[in-house]
Amino acid sequence: MTNEKKSCTFCGKSKNEVNLLIEGLEGAICDSCTQEASKIVSVESQKKKRGTTNSKKVNSSNLQPKDIFDHLNDYIIGQDAAKKVISVAVYNHYKRISQSLLGSSEDVELEKSNILLIGDTGTGKTLLAKTIARLLDVPFCIADATVITEAGYVGEDVETILTRLLQASNYNVSAAEKGIVYIDEIDKISRKGDSASITRDVSGEGVQQALLKLLEGTIAHVPPHGGRKHPEQQVIPIDTKNILFICGGAFSGIDRIIRKRLDTQPIGFKSELPTFDVNNDSVLRYVSQEDLKKFGLIPELIGRLPLIAHLEPLNPETLYLIMTEPKNSIVKQFQKIFELDDIKLTFEKEALEFIAQKAYDINLGARGLRSLLENLLLDLMFDKPKDTKEIIIDLKFVTTHLQERSSNLFKIAI
Ligand code: ADP
Repeated sequence: MTNEKKSCTFCGKSKNEVNLLIEGLEGAICDSCTQEASKIVSVESQKKKRGTTNSKKVNSSNLQPKDIFDHLNDYIIGQDAAKKVISVAVYNHYKRISQSLLGSSEDVELEKSNILLIGDTGTGKTLLAKTIARLLDVPFCIADATVITEAGYVGEDVETILTRLLQASNYNVSAAEKGIVYIDEIDKISRKGDSASITRDVSGEGVQQALLKLLEGTIAHVPPHGGRKHPEQQVIPIDTKNILFICGGAFSGIDRIIRKRLDTQPIGFKSELPTFDVNNDSVLRYVSQEDLKKFGLIPELIGRLPLIAHLEPLNPETLYLIMTEPKNSIVKQFQKIFELDDIKLTFEKEALEFIAQKAYDINLGARGLRSLLENLLLDLMFDKPKDTKEIIIDLKFVTTHLQERSSNLFKIAI
């Protein structure tokens, strides 16, 4: 190599263009490529480490739907119908992947079944998707459908959903290609009305159209750092064929559509009608593709979400169990926080029942529980009583503190 010709074998930059060029027998490497290489080495060694620790956890390839259901039971209270649908769907999905990896020559090709979760806010939709991904140890990300807009408008490209998955897999494309994506607020991109509008519906139907290919399986060109795609940007091709998409939404108002349909069934079919209590919210269990279409999802998108599961609204009893039962229940989390300061935190049953009832009244699902407990324990966490080994939270403490706090909040609000 003559002096002028010396350049980095990796990026091609000449000696003059870089700060430092380290020469080897056959080539050379510049300072910035050395840094990149060092990053890759540390990511890969972390992955290797994780691989060995994970192998001790669960062997997800041997899991049966029943095992998946049992695992979900450890973290999610109730919602058995949704848990069952997810367990079977996930089992079939990963069987399908292993079949295609084996290059099975059988002529029955298994198609992908993405999942649609319908249920009020805070009923456990995200938790279900997250828990499944953790069990299977596959990359998982949560995307918000409302930030996506059609290409060319302010907002994010649909492919940025996969940017997050790529980041969750540490830019390991083949791992990302077997990951799970949870798309939240899918109901918020429903069509804005049946009639054609003169203004384009760039965040509604347009986004639904953009999602179709992704959900079905395509090679998506993903910007590694998100943002809008532009011609010079580097993109990473990702095959979405084996990515499981779980979409979730509250679909508020769909119960009226379902009730109306059930009420107007032709007379001759009346006998086949399910008997339901009109005042009972669980009418969601009868949701059909037709109702979703009326709500504003385009038929093509509904077709790509063949599995529909509903989540029941949470009543005070379920809220009580959510607070206390799961492995990492919110009560256990707060107990742990106090335990770190050598204080035993105990809740009396009546106190927790009161909190569950309050959370039910504010109608935020299980999300309300955390804010109530945070509020309740704020003063104790701010200034932990010294020389106290045990704090007992009883009904009197809860009623006085929660009422005090809500009246303070009210004062601020007005
Ligand atoms: P969403 O249905 O709005 O996606 P999330 O899954 O985010 O609701 O739930 C919010 C929080 O409430 C979760 O972090 C979880 O702690 C709790 N939660 C909700 N539903 C349940 C449930 N069925 N079992 C246990 N925890 C739940």
